[in-house]
Amino acid sequence: MEGGGSRGEADGAAPRWRFSQASQGGPLASAGLTSIRAVLNRVNSSVDAAGPRPVLPLGNGDPTTSACYRTALAAEDAVVDALRSGAHNGYSPPVGILSARRAIAEYLSRDLPYELSADDIYLTSGCVQAIEVMISVLAQPGSNILLPKPGFPLYESRTTFSNLEVRHFNLIPERGWEADLEGVQALADENTVAIVIVNPNNPCGSVYSYDHLGKIAETARKLGLLIIADEVYDHLAFGSKPFIPIGVFSETVPVITLGSISKRWLVPGWRLGWIATCDPNGVLKEAKVNQSIENYINISTDPATFVQGAIPQIISNTKEDYFNKIVDLLRKSADLCYDKIKDIRGITCPHKPEGSMFVMVKLDLSFLDGFCDDMDFCCRLAKEESVIVLPGTNSINFQPLVW
Ligand SMILES: *Cc1c(COP(=O)(O)O)cnc(C)c1O
Repeated sequence: MEGGGSRGEADGAAPRWRFSQASQGGPLASAGLTSIRAVLNRVNSSVDAAGPRPVLPLGNGDPTTSACYRTALAAEDAVVDALRSGAHNGYSPPVGILSARRAIAEYLSRDLPYELSADDIYLTSGCVQAIEVMISVLAQPGSNILLPKPGFPLYESRTTFSNLEVRHFNLIPERGWEADLEGVQALADENTVAIVIVNPNNPCGSVYSYDHLGKIAETARKLGLLIIADEVYDHLAFGSKPFIPIGVFSETVPVITLGSISKRWLVPGWRLGWIATCDPNGVLKEAKVNQSIENYINISTDPATFVQGAIPQIISNTKEDYFNKIVDLLRKSADLCYDKIKDIRGITCPHKPEGSMFVMVKLDLSFLDGFCDDMDFCCRLAKEESVIVLPGTNSINFQPLVW
């Protein structure tokens, strides 16, 4: 071709596409491979269409796959009313609409010793985007972040993608999956920016006591670390310990709480989450963290405006009865699961689940012939029994656990 616009093309030869290298390898490829969705796809693709029973999907963390986990009618009505009002068809301010931020500030303040204001709240597209924002804001060259192991793999994927170094601290099964705080102290150095805790915990099903939360806060203060608290399972506690937000210790250490309506209201598809800065002493403001969050949010997308518009009503109109019913259901399911696991040779549960929607078990491959690891086990369970569970490999770095 003469005088054509295709600068990468040698005469007659196939063009050399310049974008192909950018999409291969690099941080995106490794982040994508470790994602929970990639692992779930691999397990799901092992299912045999002619398998023995309908697929039992226990691996996707989406409660709506069971009909009994349906959101409150009041929440559905709130969305319908917000949509019909015609007041929420436009763009929202990047940080979210004021009435929703105010309602979330009040909702979270119920469990805190001080009041959050609407200015402490940033609305996000689910807790997933809250994680993305915070990891991106904290990622500076040379910095590192402390993540729990076992953990929620999105944190690993996001930090890998942002070139933020990950250091794992252990959660100890024999101590109810409490954080190994001596380990935390040994891992942290002057480049450590934050510690992530997930409470109630996915994947371990644990709930932290007031005492343990206090110790985490003291440790973070000593090390000068910000606490990122993933409390997306807030109030989904059904054991002996109540849910306590670690924000109750934010006089000691600044806390950024991440949450959403996805789990407590059983509506992960509504994509409404938040970042809350619990910072009564103004440490984060001083360090310009709030400004950085806002800067990041200004260049990303917002949750659907009518769902934001429904938030005040969703929060005020959902009754205790509904929450109690869901927590009872979760308790019964967890008890059933725990009791049945006791009868299975080769699988043990080190700590009875007391919160969230997961149970973490240890898989002893010496009881099973011919399996090379937990991923292999999960794929064959999918193929032979049509039961989907996730390998712990991803969350615990190659220890044979499934949940
Ligand atoms: C489900 C989940 C999220 C994501 O929540 P969305 O609101 O659906 O984006 C974040 N963190 C943990 C630990 C989760 O289990």
